[in-house]
Amino acid sequence: MRSRRLKGITGSASLGAQSALVILLLLTSGCRSLDATQVKAASGFTFVNEQLAPEPASQITASAQKVKLAQDYLAVTANPYATAAATKILAEGGSAIDAAIAAQMVLGLVEPQSSGLGGGGFLLFWDAKNQQLSSYDGRETAPLGADENLFLKAGDGQPVGFVEALIGGRSVGVPGMVHMLGRAHDQHGIIEWPLLFDDAIELAENGFTVSERLSTLIKKVPALQARPQMARYLYPDGQGLLQGGLLKNKDYALSLKTLAAGGPNAFYYGAMVEAMVAVVGDDANPGQLSMRDFSQYQSVLRKPVCKLIFAYRFCGMGPPSSGATTVLSILTMLESLEIEARHNPSLVSAGVAGDAVLAHAFIEASRLAFADRNKYLADPDFVSVPVVGLLEADYLSQRASMIDLARRSKLTPPGSPSAVDADAFMTGLSLELPSTTHLTIMDASGNIVSMTNSIETAFGSRLMSGGFILNNQLTDFSFAPMDASSQKIANRVQGGKRPLSSMSPMIVFDAKNQPVLALGSPGGRSIISYVARVLYEVLVLGQSLPQSIAAGHVVEAGNKVRVESAVSEDTVKALGDMGHVLDVREQTSGIHAIYKTSLGWQGVADPRREGTASGR
Ligand code: GLU
Repeated sequence: MRSRRLKGITGSASLGAQSALVILLLLTSGCRSLDATQVKAASGFTFVNEQLAPEPASQITASAQKVKLAQDYLAVTANPYATAAATKILAEGGSAIDAAIAAQMVLGLVEPQSSGLGGGGFLLFWDAKNQQLSSYDGRETAPLGADENLFLKAGDGQPVGFVEALIGGRSVGVPGMVHMLGRAHDQHGIIEWPLLFDDAIELAENGFTVSERLSTLIKKVPALQARPQMARYLYPDGQGLLQGGLLKNKDYALSLKTLAAGGPNAFYYGAMVEAMVAVVGDDANPGQLSMRDFSQYQSVLRKPVCKLIFAYRFCGMGPPSSGATTVLSILTMLESLEIEARHNPSLVSAGVAGDAVLAHAFIEASRLAFADRNKYLADPDFVSVPVVGLLEADYLSQRASMIDLARRSKLTPPGSPSAVDADAFMTGLSLELPSTTHLTIMDASGNIVSMTNSIETAFGSRLMSGGFILNNQLTDFSFAPMDASSQKIANRVQGGKRPLSSMSPMIVFDAKNQPVLALGSPGGRSIISYVARVLYEVLVLGQSLPQSIAAGHVVEAGNKVRVESAVSEDTVKALGDMGHVLDVREQTSGIHAIYKTSLGWQGVADPRREGTASGR
């Protein structure tokens, strides 16, 4: 293996100087949000399961690799290969950013359905030396030539069906992940950029073992063969890849070598771009991505959204992600309800899944928070998003006072935060289907990365270029640009705009402003429920992190509440009695977290997926 060269000694690659089923419904103001089933029913669109790569039902599996106690450094990622690549970099003195890049390049190979070079995401970085938190926005952008008609039928102007929008070039946004990682590496990398690609290149050239999860997905969705490159890659000889088989990806190895040698700019100028633009533009369902869209792409360093709740400072990604704003809104409403103070003493062990009053409060707070999310949140470069007003204590305690702790509210309309013309915002809804990946890494200097990356739905647009899958992130926009009264919806498609996201990478700080917990998850809009529940149970109730992550999820889903079978029967029954319609089904969260305990830092990988935790 080549010895690791450090940045600054031999220089580094640089970005800087060189240059749902969304049928977004027209919900009238004041309407409650709808779940997927309702959206389908309302739109007349049929959900084509075979084409949408449902994630395999999760089995809770215990494994020694799921929990790791460490003193120096720690990596928790969605796949053992990626965790190994990250810990190797950390052992060599690399920073959390270096390790995150090495791990992400491996994830793009071994977990290609979830994230990769063809996607985007959000990254939080805690700089221990300077005691500073940064948040990076690497969200995809719509082509500059796109407009609000992108997902409307030419004839009647109605939104197209989800599959019609999804498969092919039309749903592909400019991938932002490479730009984001390049920018973060410029600022916080230690090891030289080209060396971060070694492990991924080696695995792509010599092969990796196909995991059960990848092979199950491929088996379930023969329609993934809709496009020839993906068909050739995932179904060699017409057969879906089998678990345990060795898979090589020479095209991906070549792409990685190009990026390693050319730096992040090699992704935004030149041959790689030409190839992606051609794949998107020549498709039967073409998109409008151009070379100019790539050369103009910029990741953005944004101000993190932080709020003091329950004596902790919770920080996360602001718009265009709705993640932190919605999670913080839920937690603030729970704080104002003071459930844990006035409820039963066994709440710690019970958690949300084992206590009906708490579960109910959690659901109702989530419904109120989502109502605001669906109305007010969008790309802040296009819409003046009232994040401050939405998180004001008075506003949220007034919202929380609408919660009846004995029964489900009939309506949970969006509110009117201060200093906002509420009538200027129209409620929209987009359904984000679960795919995506989250990793959390801490290096030996105490720097922390909490990063969520995605190509949107599993296997993205079904288009491949250079050995990686291109995202379908544009389906996170509202398909419909206006509501029934012809008022514009904040999250409508506009050229160069970023679609609204639910990704929720978070880092939480104690009273001395030191990090205590960092986490995130895949799961579309369910991410918000997964993350909010675990933060509440661990930091407020005092549950252990592994216990909380493995406990049954309770997920706000419009008119329904999705609960896992691990949620106690008593809770399910009581929730039903309070008026909730329950949909019992397993979830595919992939919560990857680190937590400061009295014994050291504890890394935990979600038992529902194949992730692992490792460190020293
Ligand atoms: N596209 C979704 C978002 O940006 C993520 C999809 C997922 O997590 O599966 O929030």
